[in-house]
Amino acid sequence: MAIEQLPPQLANQIAAGEVVERPASVVKELVENSLDAGATKIEIDIEKGGSKLIRIRDNGSGIAKEELTLALSRHATSKVHSLDDLEAILSFGFRGEALASVSSVSRLTLTSRTEKQSEAWQAFAEGSQMAVKIVPAAHPQGSTIEVADIFFNTPARRRFLKSDKTEFTHIDEWLKRIALARTEIQFVLSHNGKVVRKYRAANTEIQLQQRIAQVCGKSFAEQALTVACEHDGLSLSGYIQSPNDPVQTDTHYFYVNGRLVRDRLVNHAVKQAFNEFGYQLTPNFVLKLDLDPHQVDVNVHPAKHEVRFHQARYIHDYILQALQSVLAQITQPSVLAVDD
Ligand code: ADP
Ligand code: MG
Repeated sequence: MAIEQLPPQLANQIAAGEVVERPASVVKELVENSLDAGATKIEIDIEKGGSKLIRIRDNGSGIAKEELTLALSRHATSKVHSLDDLEAILSFGFRGEALASVSSVSRLTLTSRTEKQSEAWQAFAEGSQMAVKIVPAAHPQGSTIEVADIFFNTPARRRFLKSDKTEFTHIDEWLKRIALARTEIQFVLSHNGKVVRKYRAANTEIQLQQRIAQVCGKSFAEQALTVACEHDGLSLSGYIQSPNDPVQTDTHYFYVNGRLVRDRLVNHAVKQAFNEFGYQLTPNFVLKLDLDPHQVDVNVHPAKHEVRFHQARYIHDYILQALQSVLAQITQPSVLAVDD
């Protein structure tokens, strides 16, 4: 076969395979956009597990009328302008791919209003037809993005959708993770017109405890040990299950500069700290590591589930030591116990 350049929309649909796996991945991309836009309130409405409709409404900065079409096109982003920016990234987004990918496999409506505009504007994109007719609309400052009929034009992928309940559970689980990371933001999640979760903005210690209880359970929220360690430009904060708390759930959340990541390094450090004190359990934890963004590469994976630390060993030992000192407050290391 002859070599041909892919038409842009086909390229988007192929790229969508990496970013848009299921409705929950759409919710993730859109909510991250809302957070990047400085929203403090985010409403998520889901119909039929997201297969019919995903609607995200935020009170963020909005998108200017002249930029609506651009926002939907591939490699269009307001977050990165140079390679230097990428090396110090703090926003969730930077690839400029999400809206283009999502719109290539759904019917997408984007309604937005910036602070400067006196009215809102709406753009529509459907599958292979890139935007866009732009029409006036009613909307307060912020954006609403509606994604209808996901995978309507990629039947093979649509067939892979699980039941509405399962797809909704994925959305709910993902929102829990972000609700723990961004406790100052209000999130409301509805399914088929009914509010399922309401996370109120947590600004006080008590509200923070409530949010942690909502996500991780009461027992964890009440008994967890607090981790707060700052040293050498690194900060580790959060909660770790008390060795005296017998409730085992699968709560393992690790955030690097606000981004939830999977990382064996943190699991290893946590386990090692507990083992050294004679505890065999793998404790639940919610840990946030903040560091100079130059010290970590987030551009490792399209869905950004992984990061790469420049000094992995150092970070591991930093976490280990922070946890050792937390555990030392409540118990003696088992090594010492054997010695005397
Ligand atoms: P990225 O997030 O990687 O920049 P996206 O395709 O997700 O790429 O979004 C493209 C651009 O559209 C963003 O850079 C941002 O400028 C704008 N945008 C998307 N969603 C929102 C939103 N909810 N509020 C304000 N701007 C948004
Ligand atoms: Mg984005």
